[in-house]
Amino acid sequence: MTFEGIVINRIPYKERDLIVKLLMRNGLVGSFYVYGGQGGGKRQKPSLFELGSMMRMMIKEQKTRLEMSELMVSAEQSCLWGPKSVRHDIKAFYLLCLYFELIQKFSISYHHGVSDFQSSDHEGIFLTVSNAVFYLEDSLLKKKFFPHQQLTLFMVKLLFHLGIMPDTDFCSYCQTALMESESVVFLPANGQFACQNCFSGENDRGFLLRMKMSYQTKFQEYESFLGTNFQDCDKLLQYFCHQYHLRPVDLKSYSLLFQ
Ligand SMILES: [Zn+2]
Repeated sequence: MTFEGIVINRIPYKERDLIVKLLMRNGLVGSFYVYGGQGGGKRQKPSLFELGSMMRMMIKEQKTRLEMSELMVSAEQSCLWGPKSVRHDIKAFYLLCLYFELIQKFSISYHHGVSDFQSSDHEGIFLTVSNAVFYLEDSLLKKKFFPHQQLTLFMVKLLFHLGIMPDTDFCSYCQTALMESESVVFLPANGQFACQNCFSGENDRGFLLRMKMSYQTKFQEYESFLGTNFQDCDKLLQYFCHQYHLRPVDLKSYSLLFQ
């Protein structure tokens, strides 16, 4: 059986083996044991399994009860695509790590022989991540890489596919149209926007507009998505963390990215 997915985690095991986690096309995370996967050896082979690479894996069919286990053994693997520029830009690398750290906070593991491989419930997650990685590389090649621009697009699309996108049209308290209010406040703990009559605080109207725009902007149009900043990213991440009972400080790559 063949699987395709993006490398979101790699753990060296024994001298040369590797355990890799792939975010597969169906949005589930498959874990694979790869003999000799670290590369090296007499011929100094490089490892195929760079973070963010799109892999194709063929697994050994096991007749024993091991079939039910979470870890599949790779019989053959090939790299279909990889972000080559990311490893030369430290901020881009941290951003890639942050994407994968976030994904692992909520993703569902694939159990061979148990999970429904054909299910398309989580496909949107894979599409979001694969687009994010592809256009991260694209922005580096074009020398138009802005971490907050890429991260804002990623976060809004992720929230949408997770089904936890805040209501960007109406005040959550009085149902007034938010665009009619001169000032609006975002409440990350509730994931809601409030109008100026219901809540006073820092004006988040700009953030609201960028959130709406981010939702409408396709990844390939990232260059036209202007005005992004770290404060917006922080609000989106705070909200994500609140939903998953995490603290932003628990996201290691986040503090590295914005230090
Ligand atoms: Zn209101």
